Amino acid sequence: MTKYVKTIGLEIHVRIKSKTKMFCGCKNAVALAPEPNINVCPVCMWFPGMLPVLNEEVVRLGLIGGMAMNCEVNKVSQFDRKTYFYPDNPMSYQITQLYQPIVGKGSVKTIVNGEVREFGIHHMHLENDAGKLIHAGGKTLCDYNRAGAPLMEIVTDPVFHEKEEVMEFLRELQKIMRAAWVSDADMEKGQLRCDVNLSIAPEGATEFGLRTEHKNVNSFSAIWRLIDHEYKRQLKIVESGWKVEQETRGWDDERWVSTWQRSKEDAMDYRYFPEPDLLPLELDDDFIESARATIPELPIEKRIRYLNEYKLSDDDARILTTDRALSEYFDTLVEKTKDPKKSCSYITTILLALMNESEDVNNISDLKFDIVELTRVIELVNGDELSSTNSKQVVEELFQNGWKADIIVDENGLRQKNDLWALEAIVDEVITNHEKQVADYRGGNENIFGFFVGQCMKASKWAGNPKIFNELLKKKL
Ligand code: ADP
Ligand code: MG
Ligand code: ZN
Repeated sequence: MTKYVKTIGLEIHVRIKSKTKMFCGCKNAVALAPEPNINVCPVCMWFPGMLPVLNEEVVRLGLIGGMAMNCEVNKVSQFDRKTYFYPDNPMSYQITQLYQPIVGKGSVKTIVNGEVREFGIHHMHLENDAGKLIHAGGKTLCDYNRAGAPLMEIVTDPVFHEKEEVMEFLRELQKIMRAAWVSDADMEKGQLRCDVNLSIAPEGATEFGLRTEHKNVNSFSAIWRLIDHEYKRQLKIVESGWKVEQETRGWDDERWVSTWQRSKEDAMDYRYFPEPDLLPLELDDDFIESARATIPELPIEKRIRYLNEYKLSDDDARILTTDRALSEYFDTLVEKTKDPKKSCSYITTILLALMNESEDVNNISDLKFDIVELTRVIELVNGDELSSTNSKQVVEELFQNGWKADIIVDENGLRQKNDLWALEAIVDEVITNHEKQVADYRGGNENIFGFFVGQCMKASKWAGNPKIFNELLKKKL
């Protein structure tokens, strides 16, 4: 039987987090607005005679987002009018960029199943969002707080063939937008919305099949389910001798079914034409270069560096690069301690767990202690002055109350004793008090060696250096 391969291309809307909307001075605080229809004005409500004024911050952030995806910058771009009627859209048209978008071809690098991969971006253009319709009690309510909010529409090439690729790409895109401070790209808040195009073709075919488009699939897990479902649906169609129609479909994530919405519209239907109320957008070199200068080391570059140079695990490298502040904290800690492995484990196994449970400290920037203190903890452990077991207590204390590592160590009597003479006395005592076990060990049961170390640690109130106990015990037993 013929094997069918799926091909997927994405159209992703990312909300730009400028202070004000795209063409007026209204607040762009979509998720925060406490009431409907408060961040609106005659411009974004499109009252007759109003004229749009392009927000420079939107252009700058959009450009940064585009360059962070390695896209070619178009020094001259243009806005176009896309006409359609819908109650969430007071303009009856959308201002978008069809013919000459702000940035063209680009690519996003990520890791899929342990392999570094690059996925092509077709282009990214700027456009305004519509309002929101709320269907309740048999009525439809309109909230225009979002109308005129700025969006980037990122269009990928049809380059994905497996859903894992789609997922890793989207996660990477989210990280990029967050790291570049262009968007919080939170899917739950509608700051990242994804249209999924999917087609199938026999393996080895030189052309793609006809695609269906699913609009606004709004969570990672829904995208995952939709891809499986749509692949199977199309497969069933072609295997029964029919053809897949090019159409727009909707995904119902409660019932896990997709439904026909409309046959695919053509660009013609929207009567696109150059937006007469806005001049072409011309970017000069200074503007472009100063925007470029704000882009940090990309999350994927950091991740590759953590894997190759620091030999961190895949999971750790991924976790540390989810958030720009977190990875910068890690970078600083490594710079100070010169110990990437320990820096990583103190952050991922202790700090992140504490932040997870904490009510008031949820971000690395909220920590109550200076990074110098965590550096000191690692130094103490590496210098055999603090056991790694006890260091956890010190970090917890720092996390809860702030203060200084050395003082916490001393106040709690945790400074590790390396004094040979005192430790030897403890070892001797343990040996005399456990005649039976000693005989057992000397009789060949080496498994109980750990028991002696444990007894010594206990006798020293966990302040003795286990390495020294080990050596002494080996010698004396
Ligand atoms: P539009 O949806 O506006 O007509 P395009 O035709 O440029 O725009 O394609 C939009 C999206 O569909 C892109 O993300 C592209 O990668 C994807 N796409 C195009 N052709 C196919 C195909 N045969 N199979 C899957 N995805 C496709
Ligand atoms: Mg489309
Ligand atoms: Zn407004």
